[in-house]
Amino acid sequence: MAERMLKFVTVPQQMPAKRAAAERRQDFDEIYREFADAEAARQASRCSQCGVPFCSVHCPLSNNIPDWLKLTAEGRLEEAYEVSSATNTFPEICGRICPQDRLCEGNCVIEKGFESVTIGAVEKYITDTAFERGWVKPGRPREERPESVGIVGAGPGGLAAAEWLRRRGYQVTVYDTYDRPGGLLIYGIPNFKLEKEVVLRRWKLLEEAGIRFELGCRVGETLSFADLRARHDAVLIATGVYKARDIGGPGSGLPGIVPALSYLIASNRHSLGDDVPDFASGALDARGKDVVVIGGGDTAMDCVRTAIRQGAKSVKCLYRRDQANMPGSMREVKNAQEEGVEFVWLSAPEAFLGDSAVTGVRAVRMHLGLPDASGRQSVDPMPGSHFTVPADLVVKALGFDPEDLPKLFDEPGLEVSRWGTVKVNHRTFMTELPGVFAAGDIVRGASLVVWAIRDGRDAAAQIDSYICSKAAPVAVAAE
Ligand code: FAD
Ligand code: SF4
Ligand code: SF4
Repeated sequence: MAERMLKFVTVPQQMPAKRAAAERRQDFDEIYREFADAEAARQASRCSQCGVPFCSVHCPLSNNIPDWLKLTAEGRLEEAYEVSSATNTFPEICGRICPQDRLCEGNCVIEKGFESVTIGAVEKYITDTAFERGWVKPGRPREERPESVGIVGAGPGGLAAAEWLRRRGYQVTVYDTYDRPGGLLIYGIPNFKLEKEVVLRRWKLLEEAGIRFELGCRVGETLSFADLRARHDAVLIATGVYKARDIGGPGSGLPGIVPALSYLIASNRHSLGDDVPDFASGALDARGKDVVVIGGGDTAMDCVRTAIRQGAKSVKCLYRRDQANMPGSMREVKNAQEEGVEFVWLSAPEAFLGDSAVTGVRAVRMHLGLPDASGRQSVDPMPGSHFTVPADLVVKALGFDPEDLPKLFDEPGLEVSRWGTVKVNHRTFMTELPGVFAAGDIVRGASLVVWAIRDGRDAAAQIDSYICSKAAPVAVAAE
């Protein structure tokens, strides 16, 4: 092992090549190129094969990272793929969009002094290679089971659960409001972070495994929740969080001020070739406009970088704290700055200017005060520090809350927290309603793809136990 591994002292960290910012601004393609085979093996060989791998400890899926790095360094890619896909249903997606700097790579022990192993890029490389070489097969079960599970929501949480349940032989139907599965993977996250083809090829595999999709079906409207429960032995709610947080103040209702998700959905649908009237009319297209995005999270970063690619005249991001205190990934901020986004730190909007449509944002400078009980510094406006930013498109990216599911589902017995997230038993993933489980953002609040995948995987195991525990006495009686 020692010959091939532990090379972090002699082999420097190397990410896959990043396309030049000037080129990136012109299209919606992913910004990183693929590793060449030899470079992937070299980078994997930097791993020191820790006895207690902190990378795995801090990966929400507890991926067996040292093993697949070693197999990659040895050129045993098919085995590396087997190991990486044993814990992760969508490794090519996590390799692309996990905030690795906060998870596996941020906790790699060689990070201190030598820069971490490029775990995410190797994970992506292994799975993309597996697809190219035909090693990725649909997860068909060895034996069919008669019981069925209905999954509400085809985001990463719902899809991960669907795949695990199908592998165990269940008859699985996934219901989604949208016309394509993927949830935020397909309509929220832009192509330059995750090419849509990557999500669509997973959809194909899931269908080939025998998972049924009822698309264009909004549970609670198209199909009642009671009817859904009657159709299935168990139900998983994985509906995500979609209610955009809003901003008030004078002029906040002016045309030209739009919610982030409407803006991103229009852009993603346009890239997928769909007919999008609000994009065609220019209402959700940044071309030629002065764009101001309000917010400092990953959604705001996706909006500013989308506006750049659409050919905006200028793109500014207004955030009320400073760079060190923003919630978005530093990697994404750096990418945005390279592409020409201007960050206006410590600034908050007070009013929106314009008569028939927005023409500017009046903002005020903020300063960071003393930390509160949670340790987070307060932010206060600085008197007399107003300034105006010209804008003919303002995108509000202030976060998301869950919608009122008990009301939508006409099911008051579905307990929710005071934030509206669905309450579950954290061991069994079951809600207060027998046979109804929940997973992903609708339980956690807005989170990450990798956590939704983990919840989907764990909820599937619990649904399996629940159905088996109910089925066992029936099987004995039938004999
Ligand atoms: P979702 O992906 O939201 O999927 C829920 C699905 O349920 C949707 O398809 C929806 O149509 C469907 N649905 C909802 N209600 C109903 C109903 N009543 N009937 C039928 N179907 C219904 N995370 C990362 O890890 N990395 C990133 O780079 C990243 N970027 C992001 C960028 C943006 C713009 C946003 C908004 C989020 C981003 N996230 C990112 C967060 C990540 O996308 C979510 O945490 C993750 O998608 C949650 O998965 P989920 O399965 O719980 O829900
Ligand atoms: Fe890292 Fe995410 Fe892959 Fe886990 S799933 S190893 S956190 S990139
Ligand atoms: Fe390898 Fe870093 Fe994980 Fe240690 S923490 S096993 S060096 S990737």
